[in-house]
Amino acid sequence: MGAGLAGVTTAWYLAKDGHEVVVVDREPQVAAAASFANGGIVAASRGYPWPAEGLFGAIAASLARLDPELWSWGLEHLALRGSYARILDAKVRLLRYSQARLHELVAETGVQYKRLTNGVLYLYRDERSLERGWQRAGVMRAMGFPLELLDAAGLKAKEPGMAGAAGAIYARGDEAGDSALFCRALAEKCRGLGVSFYLDCEIREPVFVDVSLREIVTSKGRIRGDAFVCALGAMERPLREKLGARLPVYPVKGYSATVPLKGPGPAHAAIDESRRVAYCPLGNELRITGGSQFIGHVRGHAPADLRPLFDAVESLFPGVADFSRARTWDCRRPMTPETTPRFGAGPTYANLWFNVGHGHMGWAMAAGGGRITADLVGGRAPGIDLEGLRIRRN
Ligand SMILES: Cc1cc2nc3c(=O)[nH]c(=O)nc-3n(C[C@H](O)[C@H](O)[C@H](O)COP(=O)(O)OP(=O)(O)OC[C@H]3O[C@@H](n4cnc5c(N)ncnc54)[C@H](O)[C@@H]3O)c2cc1C
Repeated sequence: MGAGLAGVTTAWYLAKDGHEVVVVDREPQVAAAASFANGGIVAASRGYPWPAEGLFGAIAASLARLDPELWSWGLEHLALRGSYARILDAKVRLLRYSQARLHELVAETGVQYKRLTNGVLYLYRDERSLERGWQRAGVMRAMGFPLELLDAAGLKAKEPGMAGAAGAIYARGDEAGDSALFCRALAEKCRGLGVSFYLDCEIREPVFVDVSLREIVTSKGRIRGDAFVCALGAMERPLREKLGARLPVYPVKGYSATVPLKGPGPAHAAIDESRRVAYCPLGNELRITGGSQFIGHVRGHAPADLRPLFDAVESLFPGVADFSRARTWDCRRPMTPETTPRFGAGPTYANLWFNVGHGHMGWAMAAGGGRITADLVGGRAPGIDLEGLRIRRN
């Protein structure tokens, strides 16, 4: 259930393991929701928990809205302030595992997705924040991630066309690419293994018999199965509640633009840490993403939502991007309070597995999450300890 990054990678590994697989999604295309035009960055070395990232203001502002789901999510998120080390450990464990699986998968399938393997820059606009960023990165360096501190001159040498940043942390091992292209290319490989995709097919109702999910009722009829995987991302609450597990997955809205370049653009993907804006070169276009709004499933965007993203890029690369021809988009990150996904079978139904809650790093965590889920469905021990990553019982 779900044809985003989580669903398609799971389908691939299940099919490889010899299962007969059907993927169901309400969208007419694979990777049409959160996995469509995301930031594209596989930031394996940046697995910091969100509780440390200053989101308290954004959450607190949203708590004024009449949204009981956000209140309980927000309170759970705020209560995690003392759990930084535990969340970081789970997140980095998954990110590392996932990047290794991604490399294997790309080598095996040859999927093309405008991949960039020249590292990722984490930019800072002033020296104090650069220094604080480098201190924060100490924990990642201690875990062996190859990070390099670049002052303004070092950054200029790496990215000559850039202006306006005081320096950067350069993560040589991080990478980037278009996750929708990846998903769609992998879906083709899945089809080659006999996987069927039922698209334009809304899942409405699970039908349980005793402790098993027997079938799902969809807009195109009933679909029966021996085992089901819920990879429905930021699904709406009524369906979530029917699935028998506690799934505090809140839709955190973000914005994206894919902008034609007027000439040579940036050579590296980057996150502007000072402005919380990411960009990623994708051929002769630049993907720009940012924004975190806690406003439920509200869709749509206005020029003002994209303005801070465009301003950030324009100040770094004046005149390089043609914003007048931007293709803009908004979407919701499926976010748990811990900002880490949850895997495993729920407490109620033995044949219903979850691969949900990938939040702001679902591209970086996708291949690992798919492999873990296929292993669990197949009754095998997953390749990493799932401490901190399991579906909860309460
Ligand atoms: C602006 C933005 C920038 C991001 N940047 C990055 C980044 O740089 N790096 C990174 O690692 N991650 C990034 N992410 C996060 C990443 O995109 C997500 O974590 C990831 O796409 C989640 O994948 P998913 O498969 O869980 O969800 P989705 O891709 O949303 O897939 C869920 C699928 O379930 C389907 N579905 C839901 N309900 C139903 C139903 N009732 N019936 C049928 N189908 C249903 C949906 O149509 C959808 O296709 C970003 C996200 C956003 C929004």
